[in-house]
Amino acid sequence: MAIATTNPATGVIEKTFEPHDSDEVERRITAAQSAFVELKSTSYAQRGQWMRAAADLLETEVDATARMLTVEMGKPIGQSEAEVLKCAKNMRFYADEAEGFLAEEKLADPSAVNASSAWTRYDPLGVVLAVMPWNYPLWQVIRFAAPALMAGNSGLLKHASNVPQSALYLDTLFERAGFPAGAFTTLLIGSAEVKAVLEDRRVKAVTLTGSEPAGRSVASTAGEQIKKAVLELGGSDPFLVMPSADVDAAATMAVKARISNNGQSCIAGKRFIVHTDVYDEFARVFSQKMAALVVGDPLDPATEIGPIATESGLNDLAELVDDAVAKGAVVLAGGSAPDRAGFYYSPTVLAGLTDDMRIVMEETFGPVASLYRAADRSDALAIANQTTFGLSSAVWTQDSEEQDWFTRNLDAGAVFINGMTVSYPELPFGGIKDSGYGRELAAAGIREFCNLKTVWKA
Ligand code: NAP
Repeated sequence: MAIATTNPATGVIEKTFEPHDSDEVERRITAAQSAFVELKSTSYAQRGQWMRAAADLLETEVDATARMLTVEMGKPIGQSEAEVLKCAKNMRFYADEAEGFLAEEKLADPSAVNASSAWTRYDPLGVVLAVMPWNYPLWQVIRFAAPALMAGNSGLLKHASNVPQSALYLDTLFERAGFPAGAFTTLLIGSAEVKAVLEDRRVKAVTLTGSEPAGRSVASTAGEQIKKAVLELGGSDPFLVMPSADVDAAATMAVKARISNNGQSCIAGKRFIVHTDVYDEFARVFSQKMAALVVGDPLDPATEIGPIATESGLNDLAELVDDAVAKGAVVLAGGSAPDRAGFYYSPTVLAGLTDDMRIVMEETFGPVASLYRAADRSDALAIANQTTFGLSSAVWTQDSEEQDWFTRNLDAGAVFINGMTVSYPELPFGGIKDSGYGRELAAAGIREFCNLKTVWKA
């Protein structure tokens, strides 16, 4: 894939970039290794100061940066601004918390291990490769970079080929804030070059956020190399609504959960599984609200849904809907692409889904909702757990016993009760099954790329 910015709202290629050649890649890996050696001996206070300076830069530059995100991948401008500010918040969070998360822990009774004292500490691993997607061009990267740098690692970013301007913005951000040159830089390379970078002995670990095929490929290289990997892959999150729920509130939140980021979020509610007692009411309110959304230019603040980020993404989405409709799905809203330039798809609600439809098992990366009628809670759970994904989930019920039951039985990395899934710096984030492994954010996230070192003293 060419490394280029194609504005999805127009379909026009705005800028193309030459990939880095092998000499440049080598130079950048060398710089990342030198920066790691330097960073490792700096204090948390020093790294925290640089991290806060990077957060200041993001906040100062929010308008231009948000515009860049919207032009590169099409999210509504207000959501781009929120993404930039969320990154700054995450940086400040780790600037404040890293030292506590990685503090030494003393064994209370060292005599049990025949020692005068014994403790654990977290040391950084070294250069970590980050392979990242386009859907949150800054957030996905900062979610990794802020804890990694605060722990004393350095980072190499291989960003998605359709967001090179975001990649280049991140290339200089940390150095401008005071971090050593090479502490966090971008490799402008295609996906075929990732394997060789990960095989480099100076690169100690990899984190990948993206699709399942990319995850399988990178994880197999990491496996061969015996290098640590964290995988944040796709999702087809269930959003369950039980009879005791506030149906109107659930339907309103369901729309938000499905269409945020133009429907291209891994943790979006994608499958809406509703108890038969409240199904008709939910389907009516939800479909009406989906059909009423304002689709348009993502730079216009009134727009609620912009285009799909790429033409291939649009085609994939349309194929899933067409397949379902050809096999008998009922279209309650949308169901096609509007007649306009750019990569737009109308907000869509499908019902009457059957197991022979691809959409039942595959991820819809766009504003397309699948609606399921469940006979009872066991049926709802079976539908929720039937995909190969296990990222997050949401369940709406006022019944506390039912809340506990779903929390225990949903196969997912998270359960949000009477709300929608949102990522917060304070909460661990990640999936199970084909949604990947490892965690980002909170204490768990910063510890992923550290050596948990045991120290025993006679
Ligand atoms: P993608 O095609 O897998 O791309 C993600 C990154 O992986 C890009 O940098 C891409 O580079 C690279 N890549 C692709 N194939 C590769 C390979 N074989 N070896 C090495 N690198 C490879 O995914 P996407 O379309 O950008 O993103 C959408 C997917 O990401 C969805 O499935 C979504 O659910 C998932 N996602 C998950 C999370 C999470 O936290 N779990 C968050 C956001 C998105 P090129 O662009 O150069 O191909």
